[in-house]
Amino acid sequence: MNLNDTQTEVSLTECPDYSRVNIEQALQNLLEPLGGLEWVKPGMKIAVKANLVSCMKPEDCATTHPALLCALVKMIKSKGASAVIGDSPGGLYTSQYVNRIYEGTGMRLAEKDGAVLNQNFEVKNAEFLEAKVLKSFTYTSWLDDCDAIINFCKLKTHGMMGMSAAAKNMFGVIPGIMKPEYHYRFPNLNDFSDMIIDLNEYFKPALCITDAVFGMEGNGPTKGSPRHVGLLLASRSPHKLDLVCGDIIGLSKENVPTLTAAFRRGLIPEDAEKVKVSKSYSGYKIKDYNNIAVKSSMLFDNNSKLRKAFLKGVLSSRPKLKKSECVGCGKCKNMCPAKAITINGKKKAEIDRSLCIRCFCCQEFCPTGAMKVYRTPVARILSKN
Ligand code: SF4
Ligand code: SF4
Repeated sequence: MNLNDTQTEVSLTECPDYSRVNIEQALQNLLEPLGGLEWVKPGMKIAVKANLVSCMKPEDCATTHPALLCALVKMIKSKGASAVIGDSPGGLYTSQYVNRIYEGTGMRLAEKDGAVLNQNFEVKNAEFLEAKVLKSFTYTSWLDDCDAIINFCKLKTHGMMGMSAAAKNMFGVIPGIMKPEYHYRFPNLNDFSDMIIDLNEYFKPALCITDAVFGMEGNGPTKGSPRHVGLLLASRSPHKLDLVCGDIIGLSKENVPTLTAAFRRGLIPEDAEKVKVSKSYSGYKIKDYNNIAVKSSMLFDNNSKLRKAFLKGVLSSRPKLKKSECVGCGKCKNMCPAKAITINGKKKAEIDRSLCIRCFCCQEFCPTGAMKVYRTPVARILSKN
């Protein structure tokens, strides 16, 4: 379907690699159907909320690629505005820690191209009375220094949420060290997803862009494998953008709890076909993308407590240790919001299943990838259907 600029809800363009020439052209093409950056006015300061989840090299495909951020910063600067790139990765939210992440993720490259890397590490409390679940929270206040937010996320599989893309990226506004607390506050997948939607509603990014040139598949969001997708996508709606991204890698709203929650709130249509996309992407759908999502709707929709408990047992993914890869560093123990992990005498992590809330913080932050996502055989079969 050919759509004019005002109709386009999600724009999509090919981008084969991260070479400067391809990226700059692709980013121009991408934003054109959404009206470009016409809304950016001289003197504005734009916060670019990247995904800098951990100190990982760009080629690991866990973080937003610095070359893309460079190109975006150039576009913002051409409008007479300035850009600040930031995120609060898992761990301490201090100058020393975050600057180490900037170093490791290649953000200094963007700095050379004129971006400012956020150096405001203060936090603030917010009240959000209209929220569904997140009536009060603490956030990284660098976002208040800016006039608008661009959410520049990475397309990845995610142990807990099925997929990490635009909506989930906004969880990065919660200071790193406090993230486990929010998992503990919202241990139920539905509530956690509603919390993510509330964050998106509160901060309302002016624009969301997904780096899907290379995505991550398998043991995401940090220890999966790079997978070439060859696309950049953008939208004003994080949820419609995620719906289309999911469709490309074989996930529907039933597989991604934030999409299920967004649908319940009327923020997305039933399926990606009803989203007005700038051009057809059927040729880009990846049938064998290694996903780790379960059909969350089967776990949480209209079930009695007993049935829920049964379904949770046979369907719900859980963290599982590959002992030979565990070095006993204790990071998982320190991150675990439920205090379900101990390090035993053999210097291996042990999970107390009765305490585990399946938040997958241990899997996300295990530096060796020893903590995996275990999907039950039933879940594996059903998720294919
Ligand atoms: S973080 Fe990973 S390597 Fe470290 S103790 Fe936990 S499972 Fe083992
Ligand atoms: S063991 Fe892992 S998945 Fe379970 S509560 Fe702790 S951090 Fe979360």
